[in-house]
Amino acid sequence: MAEWQKGDAAWCYINDDVTYEAGKIVELGEDDRSVTLKLASGKTLTTERANVLRANKDKQDGVEDNTFLRELNEATILHNVGVRYAKSEGGIYSTTGHILIAVNPFRQLKIYEEAQARALDAARALPIKRYLGKPIGSEPPHIYAIADRMYRLLLSSGDSQARSRRPSPRSPRARHRGGPLLLRCRDRSAPRAQAIIVSGPSGAGKTETCKLVLKHLAYVTKHLSEAGMSKSSMELGALLVMTNPLLEAFGNAETNLNRNSSRFGKFTQIHVSKKGAILGASIQTYLLEATRVVVHAERNCNYHIFYQARRSRWPAAPRAPEGSHYRATRRPSDANKYAYLRNATGKATARPGGRVGGGGDAAEFKDSLSVLQKIGVSEKLIASLWETLSGLLALGNITYGETVNGDACIQNTKALGTACKLLQCHDALLQQGLTSRTLKLKGGEMQAPLRRSRRARRWHVPLKQEEAESARDALAKAVYGKLFSWIVTQINTALIDKDTKLDDTGFLGILDIYGFENFERNSLEQLLINFTNEQLHQHFAIALFKTEQEIYKSEGIVWPGVEWEDNTACLEAISGKGGSIFNLLTEHSRLPKSSDASMTEGLLNEHRKSKHISPPKMGSKGGRGTGAGTKLTGKEAFVIAHFAGSVMYQTAGWLKKNTDSLHEDLSLCMSSSSAPILKDLFSVGSINAFTGGSKGGGKRAGFVADKYQKQLDDLMRTLRATSSHFVRCIKPNHEQAPNKFNKWLVLDQLRNSGMVDAVRLLSSGYSVRIPFTTLEESFKPLCPDKFKALSAPTFATCLLTALDLGRTDFLVGLTKAFFKSTKLAFVDALMDGT
Ligand code: ATP
Ligand code: MG
Repeated sequence: MAEWQKGDAAWCYINDDVTYEAGKIVELGEDDRSVTLKLASGKTLTTERANVLRANKDKQDGVEDNTFLRELNEATILHNVGVRYAKSEGGIYSTTGHILIAVNPFRQLKIYEEAQARALDAARALPIKRYLGKPIGSEPPHIYAIADRMYRLLLSSGDSQARSRRPSPRSPRARHRGGPLLLRCRDRSAPRAQAIIVSGPSGAGKTETCKLVLKHLAYVTKHLSEAGMSKSSMELGALLVMTNPLLEAFGNAETNLNRNSSRFGKFTQIHVSKKGAILGASIQTYLLEATRVVVHAERNCNYHIFYQARRSRWPAAPRAPEGSHYRATRRPSDANKYAYLRNATGKATARPGGRVGGGGDAAEFKDSLSVLQKIGVSEKLIASLWETLSGLLALGNITYGETVNGDACIQNTKALGTACKLLQCHDALLQQGLTSRTLKLKGGEMQAPLRRSRRARRWHVPLKQEEAESARDALAKAVYGKLFSWIVTQINTALIDKDTKLDDTGFLGILDIYGFENFERNSLEQLLINFTNEQLHQHFAIALFKTEQEIYKSEGIVWPGVEWEDNTACLEAISGKGGSIFNLLTEHSRLPKSSDASMTEGLLNEHRKSKHISPPKMGSKGGRGTGAGTKLTGKEAFVIAHFAGSVMYQTAGWLKKNTDSLHEDLSLCMSSSSAPILKDLFSVGSINAFTGGSKGGGKRAGFVADKYQKQLDDLMRTLRATSSHFVRCIKPNHEQAPNKFNKWLVLDQLRNSGMVDAVRLLSSGYSVRIPFTTLEESFKPLCPDKFKALSAPTFATCLLTALDLGRTDFLVGLTKAFFKSTKLAFVDALMDGT
């Protein structure tokens, strides 16, 4: 790094709130450690040199690709992203190499136009057309550019027959035709699979971004079809877009961070033929937040579908099928009447307009209903679905009191009756399941106060009030989790023809998954989410370095071998062999007498010398916030040093959560229900509520963390086999307001998303690139004639050597000259002609 000079423009780190402020160096400290700056605000400040980063010239403000910035550091990226965001609609997007940064505008923009169109008609799809067949960088950054590149790469990889049919990228036809089959970048070694990984915190715009990718795909594939397919590419593309509201109705909810927050992770795989037509698609979901069904915080809601159904005019239109119990009950009309719709303050959260942009709960209900009908769910099953949802609300209204023995007893039998009617199960069976638990005992193990059942060796243990409430809630969570998985299965069935063989077709994957979480109170769910992000971060680092390596390779340059911070040790501490967190969790979940405290103690003991796991600091009260909880000890919490910062996890309730057990009596009660959906969902081998996967598969398969780990392993294996494209969604403010750019919040996300590391990588390699054509256009006219005859690489080498660049400052590739980022100023001056 060049020495600071008086008059140099700089960014000075003020504090976590202000982040960086622009200024000029006015004094250099004699100790070589401090500098004095005149800040833009007029103040003069002396600070350590470590707090000061180089700034760019104003004319570089708002460049499309952050790697074009003369000075590449977190302050210049933050500034560039902010300037673009304020400047224009398209400015929400910028790139860092091939990574797209998308800042949520929190308002409708014209840059998607067709997003508001009902049909994907050509006239309205102009923004998509603009990006068709264009290399990244030739048009302003946009999600359509990434989507288009992904599609083109998929088609250009793999199949030689298909390749030979395509125009050569050098042919005039290839240069001028703008259709989706115009393939400029081709990579024979690229995998026949592409994935787009969209990440960011809640409300950053991941789901909206994924929808835009789907829209692009639906548009480019709509004219293509495959012989022998019962559904055309156009139908499948439209179905994919159309089924989204249904999935959102069941899997999204209003939270304080996002009015349409996805409470599950989603990986959509779209199988594409060699010609580019959609052959089928499937959706895999992860970690549905089932707890939300029974409890949610202030300014939060339950899943959208409960409110939609509440506002519906169903069953009046369409009519409920014969024998439907739904008719017999009053539709839930006032959210406050339902315990599961009331938030932690005891009141239902107001919902002025339903899901954002959805037109209100009543209109959205119509959409959900019409999707169910379009994907072929029978009226009988649809009726059963609404009945079951209403049944869950009735279940939530069951309250308990205590018998003289101190055991739980149901107080409001009316709610029980309604729940039984809607869930179509036997009153006595449900009542028994909600107040007691059957134990199977070996001979001689009988103890008071167990009551003997009719069958030998089966005993009903009465539940205490708290246990009974948790059994009721466990039932609601299990039913809803299974309903959600059922909805996903219905959508998947509609998206894949059962006769279509998809094994070796290429696919496009779209991953929309929770971002890194660090709340005041973090539990097992946060560990699973952060473990996912830790895995994705590793994938990102490898893919990023690989992409850079490929650029070097394609230009015939030897990779400079840049190091990066590896998070393998943290992943090992969570999920590796031996005493990893997941292994200890499984072990303690198996031991009948273990407890959350003994597991936590064991874990901290095991990791005494670990860099990644440590006990809570004395006086800690929770995660990032101040929290109102009591001080935590090494029996209640532990801290993991993640790539994105340290998170404290509180372990109360982990063993119970990990076993995810709905007691058998309630499972049996549901499987004996005559409701068509419930019967199916609770049969043996049915879908698991928490992870969405099916039961079975190995001796550890029963535990939540193990099941999730397996699911995630499968996902990572799939992603590793793809060419991955990354989109980093940024939330510019917590208020979900347009035109508000909170620098602290954005910087935090740029750091957590690995963008700052990406910059480090790009700046330590040869990240500044100038095409030979630019050098030739600028300098050949100034040179003597004999220079004009030189080949482009030789001309570049001669020119740069003549300009006194050192041998290690630049490299000459096949089409570009590569410079160290420290030579940016030189390159700038070169291009300015100074
Ligand atoms: P979560 O993790 O909670 O699901 P998310 O990252 O998926 O959050 P989104 O639901 O995609 O966030 O976006 C939140 C809201 O931001 C949207 O409902 C919409 O109002 C707005 N939004 C996001 N992206 C865009 C966009 N490109 N144009 C206009 N509005 C947007
Ligand atoms: Mg989302």
